[in-house]
Amino acid sequence: MEDKILVHICCGVDAVWALRKLKMDFPDAQIKGFFYDPNIHPEEEYELRWIETLRICEDLGIECIKGDYDIERWIDLTKGLENEPERGKRCTVCHDLRLEETAKLAKKLNFNKFTTVLLMSPKKDFQVLKDVGESIGRKYGLEFLAVDFRKKGGVENMNRLSKEYQLYHQNYCGCMYALFQQRKDKGYISELVSFGRGRIAGSREELLFIKDIRIFAESLGLKVKEDKFKFIGWRLIRSVLTVNKEPVPHRVLPYSSSLKSVLRAKVARSYEEEDKVVLNLNKGNVQIWITDNPEAESLKKPRLFTDPVFITDNSIPQDAKIELQLEADFIPDSESTNLIIGNPDAESYVEFYSDTLPDGSLGFDPEKIKELLISNREKILSGMLSVRIYGAEHCGKLGREYSKIGEKSLKKL
Ligand code: SF4
Repeated sequence: MEDKILVHICCGVDAVWALRKLKMDFPDAQIKGFFYDPNIHPEEEYELRWIETLRICEDLGIECIKGDYDIERWIDLTKGLENEPERGKRCTVCHDLRLEETAKLAKKLNFNKFTTVLLMSPKKDFQVLKDVGESIGRKYGLEFLAVDFRKKGGVENMNRLSKEYQLYHQNYCGCMYALFQQRKDKGYISELVSFGRGRIAGSREELLFIKDIRIFAESLGLKVKEDKFKFIGWRLIRSVLTVNKEPVPHRVLPYSSSLKSVLRAKVARSYEEEDKVVLNLNKGNVQIWITDNPEAESLKKPRLFTDPVFITDNSIPQDAKIELQLEADFIPDSESTNLIIGNPDAESYVEFYSDTLPDGSLGFDPEKIKELLISNREKILSGMLSVRIYGAEHCGKLGREYSKIGEKSLKKL
């Protein structure tokens, strides 16, 4: 009988070597992947791990099924185990669930063997996974393949391949409880926070956008390259602007620092600058910019820890009583990515950027970029044209700054 192996997959990093090893050990077997990770929080993280898994599977010619994001069920099953340490009882329940669902699907698909790439992770207990897998295997009449993927240079192979594939490398196991424990001294857990509906620079949403375009470009046979860069991120938590006690719609210029408390001020000086009127207030070194199009007022150059700037299209009388509140966070270890599709030295290029404002405005629709890739595929393949997608555009065009090397020799379309 032909061996049919269903492989539970939790992420691209653990899968990249383990799937290769299985293909080598079982060259005649039919291998299928099953991405099942209801433990992952938040959902954007789950999608990111899925898209990277898909990339690996497609490259290896392995079909992969995406399981349900059944987080409510996972939370129910781990009730009372929230404070367990990693490798404790909560992890056993978490492994049981994922392996049992894999076995059920293997049975349904008429497969005779199953395994998991969790066996690849140096942070997992091999013996515990083996015991769980074998006991579930007995229950469903399946053979559990307890392959120690880490042995014989497996970990080194995984690290090398992860780099080659430029895989997203998560920095926590997956669930919110492990993350709470890992970051308990920090007070603030940026991985668990999502602000607004947009793709702010350095966020998972921004990276997901890049990975989505990347996988599409690769499916067209186009060459891609990701360039990562670090920067100090900024997120607006809350802002209030009232004029004579009336709330005024506004934006806050990125990298504005927080105000300690409610600031009550008046206009000290006003002057025109380019296409806006600038109001300097008499307290707190705060400026208000009045412009017809506040949305277009992006940060043109990188800046850090500067005085607050509020931007509005409302007029403000000279003698108005103004109240302001502003709370923002700086995130020191932010990372963003530039994506280059095609030959970086192509004679011409088209450019986009990946981030948006927090409300989702001032960004590109991924479908439009994909259409452009389809209609220009031949030109990109021939090396005449490349497509560049910059990260962190709204933080002072950081991605562009980072990629300046060699740009002078290129002709922009
Ligand atoms: S730490 Fe990892 S294995 Fe343990 S419960 Fe959380 S997600 Fe599951």
